[in-house]
Amino acid sequence: MYDPKQVKKNFPVLDQEVHPGKPLVYLDSAATSQKPKKVIEVMAHYYLNDNANVHRGVHVLSDRATDAWDRAKETVAQFVGAEKDELIFTRNTTEATNGIAYGWGDHNLGKGDVIVTTLMEHHANLVVWQELCKRTGANLEVVGLKDEATIDLEEFAKIVKKPDVKLVAFVHVSNSLGTVNPVKEMVSLVRKHAKEARIVLDAAQSVPHLPVDFHELDVDFLCFSGHKMLGPMGIGGLVVKKELLKSGEMQPWLFGGGMIGNVGEQQASYADDLTDLFTAGTPDVASAIGLAEACKFLDNLGMEDVMKHDFELVEYAFKQLSGIKGLEIVGPRPEKYNRLGSVAFVHDTVHAHDLAQILDSEGVAVRSGHHCTMPLHKACGWQATTRASFNVYSTKEDIDALVKAFDKVAKIFKL
Ligand code: PLP
Repeated sequence: MYDPKQVKKNFPVLDQEVHPGKPLVYLDSAATSQKPKKVIEVMAHYYLNDNANVHRGVHVLSDRATDAWDRAKETVAQFVGAEKDELIFTRNTTEATNGIAYGWGDHNLGKGDVIVTTLMEHHANLVVWQELCKRTGANLEVVGLKDEATIDLEEFAKIVKKPDVKLVAFVHVSNSLGTVNPVKEMVSLVRKHAKEARIVLDAAQSVPHLPVDFHELDVDFLCFSGHKMLGPMGIGGLVVKKELLKSGEMQPWLFGGGMIGNVGEQQASYADDLTDLFTAGTPDVASAIGLAEACKFLDNLGMEDVMKHDFELVEYAFKQLSGIKGLEIVGPRPEKYNRLGSVAFVHDTVHAHDLAQILDSEGVAVRSGHHCTMPLHKACGWQATTRASFNVYSTKEDIDALVKAFDKVAKIFKL
């Protein structure tokens, strides 16, 4: 049986007081997750024992580092249902979407082409396309929402039927609404009506919370961040369908050492090996090892159980928070629509930042603001929302502590 209290013991950072007599209740995992001790240990072990540059040495440490880097890539690729050659390590999701824009968009889009995205996107899956449109002359179409909660699939279908749709980019799990989008349905609409279009899935908030299989989802690009899935900061992934890499439709966007074949004064040829081709410069070996360890940790917990645990927390949070006067949770209701990862809310009297500050004074760490989804917040008329977000170590007691901390809000604001 999934026991989050046992899981929590693997995260030493969670065992502390943040104010006198106030133990930490960490509910900001959508911004970044905490890291299990084992992840930190394998990274320290690497630096203490094996550190060397990869691929360019013949000595023992270089062999070990290369080996560890290769194995890490294999593990992380497997975790998201991809082949090793299909995974490009990036710094995070943002670098992954930028990689698509520079490595694919600049070579395949032109004036009048259409990029489709949605109103619930994180800026990492929006601003990048705005800039790509500026460079290529493509146009951006933003699909609206139904009930401020879910993607309007009728509008989505209408837009992808337009001529010249070349790229469709959407989020798997919204970081502001918690909505789990119907990826398969959306992919089949695109495949049916926009045969030439490539599909980008922003999986930053799904890979940490539910089983994700790149091949099964049938998207062309998948982006995720290691730091949100128990791994270290500074590493993430861009998964690209192999045929796009092999055919040259997707090209490297970073150039320099490590990715070349032969270099002359005026020209260079590039590596045949796909891993080498998309790894310009020295990679972050320790972080790759740490991320692979995080994948093993999640695999051991079982992603089906992780997802179930997460759904239960969301349902529980809805139930418990609904008793707080003046509070409205945004996004779909869990009994009507799949949602997970977080609950964000607005209060009719107290500003989101004030809420977050008072909750912090009770040891409860939440986030307030627009959560990098400004167009969504503007369209829904929310100046800011306060978000409590969960991960494998979150417990119902954490949610109880959040609810209890509202007593202080009520006291200060005389509610
Ligand atoms: N996409 C979503 C849905 C996110 O929640 C985030 C971060 O919060 C990102 C993209 C960007 O991730 P990163 O800052 O790790 O690049």
